[in-house]
Amino acid sequence: MTKRINLNFIFVIAAAVLLSVSFSTIVSYRLFQKEVFADLSSFAGLLEEMDVLTQMKKEGFAWPENELRITWIAEDGMVIYDSYTNETVLENHIDRPEIIEAMQAGEGTSIRKSQTMGRSIFFYAKRTADGTMIRIAKEAGSIWNVYKNTLPVTLISAFSSFLISIVIARRLTKAFIKPIEQMAEDMEHPENVTVYGELAPFVEKIRAQHEEVLKNAKIRQEFTANVSHELKTPLTSISGYAELIANGMASKKEGRHFAREIYENAQRLLAMINDILQLSELEDSDVGSLSLERIDLSALVSDCMKVIKPMADQHGVCVSLKGTPLFVYGDKRLLEELIYNLCDNAIRYNKKGGHVWVSVTDKLIVQDDGIGIPKKCQKQVFERFFRVDKSRSKKTGGTGLGLAIVKHIAQVHNADISLDSDEGLGTTICVKFSEILP
Ligand code: ADP
Repeated sequence: MTKRINLNFIFVIAAAVLLSVSFSTIVSYRLFQKEVFADLSSFAGLLEEMDVLTQMKKEGFAWPENELRITWIAEDGMVIYDSYTNETVLENHIDRPEIIEAMQAGEGTSIRKSQTMGRSIFFYAKRTADGTMIRIAKEAGSIWNVYKNTLPVTLISAFSSFLISIVIARRLTKAFIKPIEQMAEDMEHPENVTVYGELAPFVEKIRAQHEEVLKNAKIRQEFTANVSHELKTPLTSISGYAELIANGMASKKEGRHFAREIYENAQRLLAMINDILQLSELEDSDVGSLSLERIDLSALVSDCMKVIKPMADQHGVCVSLKGTPLFVYGDKRLLEELIYNLCDNAIRYNKKGGHVWVSVTDKLIVQDDGIGIPKKCQKQVFERFFRVDKSRSKKTGGTGLGLAIVKHIAQVHNADISLDSDEGLGTTICVKFSEILP
């Protein structure tokens, strides 16, 4: 890239130098022309004023070549006198451009190529008071000549400005590229890189993204470690009980107990794998990948109640629903999961004879009068694998992922989730959707 920028700079500089050289040559040639014609005009004026031509004709005065050539021309174009040759051999001059112009406008000019390389003949004609015309010709340098004369100076100045420009261009390119190179070398410390204003938002974005990537990597690492640990516990139990049975170390009665343990641990493993899969699916999904539809939350809660009722009965917990239709735009399967997880917790972390009240008004509220959550743990309960009481969670089939899943589902639905709990009194979890459909 640096090479490309430098090459572009060099190309632009070369074009600029070439243009300015051509432009200045043209301008100085124009000035030179103007000066030559001004000289010739004042000389012609002088000749007319002093009436020297009659005298020169009379004396047959001839000027040396390479000097000014004076021609006196009659109104009909016939040459009366010429300072180079005998006028009688000269043809009629009526068709010469400077003569035509002078006849019409009083004075005329014209430039014609000289036989000498790089030189031109400048003609100036002036109509005198008696109608005859004085024409003065002068051989002078052409544009090429002017260019040739100024070439050394032009070349030196062009070359030095070219060099200076290249040095500046290189410096600019370096200053332009340097922060990007520094950033690439040391992504960990972008604050050490001095950047110019236009690059600051870009650097800030890269820094934020880099931090995000690191944070996500750390979360994933922790999650993997937790998952391995969580899966290891039931698997160790399964393996231990199975080994006892395989070695014939279990009596018939014990064998049945071990088989039950194996079954329960396998169930835990399955539940955990299901939750892990669901969480990673939720993490990878965005609003675009959900199958969104108009859903009545209270109808969904009522369906969920039918599924949860046998479990509530088993725990001796009374579940009731109070709801008015509330339409939201959401993914049915995920919202079912959210409601189920909240109700499941409200039943499992309850006591015999306890209550769960589910209400749908302008939000979804799941309230229970169960064991409650200590204040210091309330923030952490939405974290993966966090449990207030590990043994109680495991005993009731918990995976420690239920509320993490709930939080994610709420997030992808743009819903706010809040928790209010008092230890020993109960817990209230409230889900408020930002968009309610009519
Ligand atoms: P688990 O599978 O262990 O239930 P969750 O993520 O659903 O995992 O909940 C995390 C922890 O929060 C639980 O282990 C429990 O200690 C606490 N908890 C969740 N809901 C309630 C509730 N309604 N009442 C009391 N404690 C709760």
